[in-house]
Amino acid sequence: MTTTHIPGFPRIGARRELKAALEQYWSGGDEAALRAAGHALRHRHWRLQREAGIDLVTVGDFAWYDHVHNLTALFGAAPARFGIGRSVALADYFRMARGDAAQPALAMTKWFDTNYHYLAPELDRDTVFRLNPDWLLPEVREAQAAGHRVKVALVGPLTYLYLARQRGAGFERLSLLPLLLNSYWALLRQLAGLGVEWVQLDEPLLCLDLEPAWLRAVHSSYAELATAGPRLLLACYFGGVAEHAALLRDLPVAGLHLDLARAPEQLPLFLRDWPAARVLSAGVIDGRNVWRNDLRRSLELLRAAHQQLGADLWLAPSCSLLHVPHGLAGETALDPEVRGWLAFAGEKLDELALLARALDHGAETVADALQASDAVAAARASGSLARDPALRRRIAALRPEDERRRSPFARRIGRQRARLGLPLFPTTTIGSFPQTAEIRRARAQHRAGTLDDAGYAAAMRAEIGRAVAEQEALGLDLLVHGEAERNDMVEYFATLPRGFAVTQHGWVQSYGSRCVKPPVIYGDVSRPAPMTVEWTRHAQSLTARPVKGMLTGPVTLLQWCFVRDDQPRGDTALQLALAVRDEVLDLEAAGIRAIQIDEPAIREGLPLRRTEWPQYLRWAVRAFRLAACGVDDATQIHTHMCYSEFADILPSIAAMDADVITIETSRSGMALLDAFGGFRYPNDIGPGIYDIHSPRVPRLEEMTQLLDKAAQVIPPERLWVNPDCGLKTRGWDEVRAALRLMVEAARLQRVKAGADAAPA
Ligand code: GLN
Ligand code: ZN
Repeated sequence: MTTTHIPGFPRIGARRELKAALEQYWSGGDEAALRAAGHALRHRHWRLQREAGIDLVTVGDFAWYDHVHNLTALFGAAPARFGIGRSVALADYFRMARGDAAQPALAMTKWFDTNYHYLAPELDRDTVFRLNPDWLLPEVREAQAAGHRVKVALVGPLTYLYLARQRGAGFERLSLLPLLLNSYWALLRQLAGLGVEWVQLDEPLLCLDLEPAWLRAVHSSYAELATAGPRLLLACYFGGVAEHAALLRDLPVAGLHLDLARAPEQLPLFLRDWPAARVLSAGVIDGRNVWRNDLRRSLELLRAAHQQLGADLWLAPSCSLLHVPHGLAGETALDPEVRGWLAFAGEKLDELALLARALDHGAETVADALQASDAVAAARASGSLARDPALRRRIAALRPEDERRRSPFARRIGRQRARLGLPLFPTTTIGSFPQTAEIRRARAQHRAGTLDDAGYAAAMRAEIGRAVAEQEALGLDLLVHGEAERNDMVEYFATLPRGFAVTQHGWVQSYGSRCVKPPVIYGDVSRPAPMTVEWTRHAQSLTARPVKGMLTGPVTLLQWCFVRDDQPRGDTALQLALAVRDEVLDLEAAGIRAIQIDEPAIREGLPLRRTEWPQYLRWAVRAFRLAACGVDDATQIHTHMCYSEFADILPSIAAMDADVITIETSRSGMALLDAFGGFRYPNDIGPGIYDIHSPRVPRLEEMTQLLDKAAQVIPPERLWVNPDCGLKTRGWDEVRAALRLMVEAARLQRVKAGADAAPA
């Protein structure tokens, strides 16, 4: 019989119950209530697995904030700066996760190429690990007491260390491996004592380009852990691991899990001389995307493995279902046909059980499900809903000049400056202004139907008017309309064009209690009518100063949506690019003289393997250029990027050829700027001098110092003055105070440059 299991389940709850419980607790609620909410969620999710017919129920995937951070608590690895000692209480756990007045939080970064953020462990040469089994064992007992057959799932020791920040000169985090293995071993021992038969250890680091020292550590680590008692399932996901096939086959572990959604081609290679009595867990169901599984294709892929391995073949999603929404049950507003194409976490459990039944008892026992799956595959392939022939003709007819500005930057920039009437060191902001209580109220009322379209539009126009007036009073040079009408920079653009679907409850955890609701791109994308022109035109009508149009770029839209899997991502990016291009041209035609196309996600879209970077960068840059290059030389194109660390892709950023790029730099003390300077970035740059992530208003000297630093690497005529990022999460009082100082910093810089009499 084929065993089914899942690498992990979404913990946030069908209605984001965990978010509600956390926020209650953080605002002074009691610990018992939070614990009860966690308990209820775990039981509900185990029961869902059980009721779907999944054989092993997964324990260890639950976390109050983040599952990597749970290991930090479990192994007693709190950094000394928090003064916690080795046993970590719940309050300590949250203090490390969220910071407090005395200590900033642990660094938070993206989990591989997902939009989930983990808390990076912070290790130094004095780090010691001490097992706090209470961070895991009670959950195991809970599940056992409920009668479940338990598989424990944890991030493995190598990935845990790899993701850690190392502190202190000359310290190498891999040197802590022996100590960490001791703790894992002790933990495995205790799990064995509870009768846990299987422990899944996740090592997605094997899908990265690894230095030899890390690779060498794999065999010895698992040889050691395998002696502790439980049978180990080593899980490799987020890509193929074919290059490590020999290493993985020779490991003394009881099972190996492979990602066959991203790398189905690796299966035959692993089947060749697969050892007897070793489990191979086939991750055939895509844990990263929301499409219904093509059951027939999966059965095709699995047939040889099933014949060869028998009961040693396991079935699973490719990775934890953490990255997809909880379930489709509440989605009543989706187009029924599109809805029929989707499978969220709950539906994926059913697919898993169906596949196992088909393998064990024959396809005829699931004939109805197969037929339904075939019908979806056929409907998707037929393109009845998804294909737009006119768009396809338009893409086929693209010419090289469509992705080139008419003149080089040096020729364009003079015309733009003259037309915009900007001084030296022009000031601007990144787009959004505070999303006030009034804005949120109007949006909620509009959604609930108590405020009609006209009333809502009037409320938004009033907010735009306020933002313009504030900016004029502050003396900013290039204004924005403030994005009052946007709940989210991706979802807003997904509600308007064709080819997108927006869910009601499709929440996915981003970090802690924060969730995002990624739109679904199910078909060819086009933009039948202007999306932002009216708002922007309204803003421009209120002021003689130029107003910058504000759009989300094609690569960021792609990156923050669930994307169709029936064509390459690059093809979808081109379609998105044309939709943005149409909007850019409409803004230009409406008299808007500067247009910003945000691409904050361009860096995070990079594939995990460097060999795949050039191809990605080629289509990503092309998509941006297609979006931007339709305009006249005198129209100024801005772009914006944040989350730094894109020093390694500067040539591609330059190739995007935006007239102005604004970047997040103040938090890193302008470290990124050195890279831009060293690379001699050719166009205008606005390095952020105001850290908008903190409610603190920076002092004038902090901003002038950052500006001085910027002026050392960027020639004065190409230097802009702006915050790090959008201001939507801040309050007006702090924003007003900070921007007043920022404008003053720019004025002082002009005085220093002897240009204070420049045109206003
Ligand atoms: N224009 C957007 C804003 O200001 C940019 C947000 C972002 O970079 N993530 O909110
Ligand atoms: Zn930003």
